[in-house]
Amino acid sequence: MAQRAAVADGGNKKTSRVRVAVRLRPYVGKQDERSEGPCVKGLDAQNLEIINWRNATETVKYHFDVYHDEQTTQQEVFLSSVKPILPHILSGQNASVFAYGPTGAGKTHTMLGSSEQPGVIPRAVREVFNLVKAKDEDEGWDYSIGMSYLEIYNEKVLDLLSLSSQDLPIREDRDKNILIPGLTHTTISSFSEFDKHFVPASLNRTTASTKLNERSSRSHAILLIKVVRTQRAFPHRQQTGKLYLVDLAGSEDNRRTGNRGIRLKESGAINLSLFTLSKVVDSLNSGTAVRVPYRDSKLTRLLQDSLGGSAHSLMITNIAPEYKYYFDTFSALNFAAKSKLIVNKPFTRETVAVPVLPEKLRNISPLPSSPVKR
Ligand code: ADP
Ligand code: MG
Repeated sequence: MAQRAAVADGGNKKTSRVRVAVRLRPYVGKQDERSEGPCVKGLDAQNLEIINWRNATETVKYHFDVYHDEQTTQQEVFLSSVKPILPHILSGQNASVFAYGPTGAGKTHTMLGSSEQPGVIPRAVREVFNLVKAKDEDEGWDYSIGMSYLEIYNEKVLDLLSLSSQDLPIREDRDKNILIPGLTHTTISSFSEFDKHFVPASLNRTTASTKLNERSSRSHAILLIKVVRTQRAFPHRQQTGKLYLVDLAGSEDNRRTGNRGIRLKESGAINLSLFTLSKVVDSLNSGTAVRVPYRDSKLTRLLQDSLGGSAHSLMITNIAPEYKYYFDTFSALNFAAKSKLIVNKPFTRETVAVPVLPEKLRNISPLPSSPVKR
């Protein structure tokens, strides 16, 4: 598995790939619904297939760094994809983990989870505290952990830990570190202290979402965990490591209507940050990048020092198996895939554990939209 193949950037800087994991959530079937079974099927730990809407006798096969099937637990996602990058934060390196995918596919479940099934965020924060605790005093460093929590909505940067929130500027210092002057940064000394700040701020965001027309599906929620370590002895060297944990806006194309498909690229109405993120990940992973367009949106500008470059980055693409997600799944996979292959055989339909009527091969045209091609 090519984990972090380095590719040459425009200059002599090394940029690292973004590791891509895909997670399929379980099928949600209603008792009284005619079930068609899932339209996606996992093949093994790195490959999955989906029916080809252009030609139902064909299947499209995709390859990823990791494929997590619908039975994968929160613990397994954390252990295999997230835990290994956390030690780097303690030695002054940056990292980012973000959940991508259409609304309803499991981004928040993956990142936040529930009290019964905690997701990446609570597990990662606990682990950072554990790693710091396990550090040998004799190494001579003192550690301090802090957090910020913000949201990017309509290209505005909003502080979720402060009530008087207004659009905050993103700056870069002389050492190319990205910072947000005015953003609340709170020192935390335990997981429960983290929870005390994080939970109310998350709730604020959820409440606002119902009022503000599904805001949560169109904004990016960004948690920053910062670990600063300081050498006890002279010259008191200091290193800062940043970990961004991001629940991205829904990747669905809200403008798709009837039979008139609109491509992602055609209008300015799309979520600029999400669109730019796809270009940034594309240029980091293609290996031929002349310029990585970090500056084209707030999200990518903010993540610039923690995505690509010397940072450790992971994108978890969440997908849903039901047919109504088909086109969003298709475009999410096209964005995320390392490679894809069209196989000349019909997609094997499987029934699911809900009452199913005899299956007919449904004609899936006319097509509402052309998925984004790359
Ligand atoms: P998103 O944040 O992408 O809009 P959610 O995380 O809210 O999606 O998931 C939609 C629904 O599916 C929620 O009820 C969530 O609990 C459930 N869900 C998502 N992923 C899983 C999973 N892997 N296992 C069980 N339930 C899941
Ligand atoms: Mg969500």
